[in-house]
Amino acid sequence: MSKAFASKGDLDPKTVSFTRLADNAYAYTAEGDPNTGVIIGDDCVMVIDAQATPVMAQDVVRHIRTVTDKPIRHVVLSHYHAVRVLGASGYGAQNIIASRDTYDLIVERGQQDYQSEFERFPRLFQAVETIPGLTWPTIVFERELTIWLGQTEVRLLQLGRGHTKGDTVAWMPKEGVMFSGDPAERSTTSFRFFHDAGRQGAATDAAVLPDGRLVIIYRKLGLWPIFTTSIAIADPSKLKSGAMLTSTTIAVVKDRRLAENYEGVAVQQDKGGLSLWLVSDDNLQDWQHSRLVRFHIDPAALRPSGLRPAKRAAPEPARP
Ligand SMILES: [Zn+2]
Repeated sequence: MSKAFASKGDLDPKTVSFTRLADNAYAYTAEGDPNTGVIIGDDCVMVIDAQATPVMAQDVVRHIRTVTDKPIRHVVLSHYHAVRVLGASGYGAQNIIASRDTYDLIVERGQQDYQSEFERFPRLFQAVETIPGLTWPTIVFERELTIWLGQTEVRLLQLGRGHTKGDTVAWMPKEGVMFSGDPAERSTTSFRFFHDAGRQGAATDAAVLPDGRLVIIYRKLGLWPIFTTSIAIADPSKLKSGAMLTSTTIAVVKDRRLAENYEGVAVQQDKGGLSLWLVSDDNLQDWQHSRLVRFHIDPAALRPSGLRPAKRAAPEPARP
């Protein structure tokens, strides 16, 4: 049986490696435990991901000191997870740098993540009492920030969602080295769950809302209209092995002028608010259409208190 990542069942001490990736870049790794990247510039050092506690950060510093005595000026957070950020104070760095989305996640659920990760992975929090509190970024950027450490270029890029919306990579274009954070976790396991679609038909696609919940679209076949599309919200945090996932309908598309065989959904957040896109193709049938439809989502409709349980849709009246 495989051991879960850093779980209570995984207590063996890990061997630390400090690996040279380029003349000026190193990786501090520990057999799959949270790692730290190190970039040595002309006059200072940048660290990517901080470890879970200041005492653990001190071990990274010890390794850095075997290759340079330059000051550690920048700590970059690839994302907000406690096991990677709460050691930041251990470097005494001038700048703690994160994406705006990572900053927002620290505000929104930093404390909660600290508690839950500590309970799940106690081994990863050596000397937890040395954590001074949440780590607050001092430099926040949107999408992209280039930092020059003398002649060394480091590009911090938000390339899209990894396992959080704030995920950032640190890219050294000249050296061809990328520190990627956690695009996916090692030892991620799969499990089976069940989904009750109510009487909404078959789920055809899903997209992730900014708050992590899912929008699922369902297609039901009938006579008039032929296709009815239900748009529903589900909470994937409730997923566990053997559990039943249900969803709550927020809208039904059955108006004849709009009803179509929608099989794709996307969510977009921009200045205009939150939009939901549906797409269909005509399947080379003259009675189907290729359509791209945009809906504006009223944020009130997404509040958990505003969600109504899925109505058991009344059967469509048969046409004479
Ligand atoms: Zn993470």
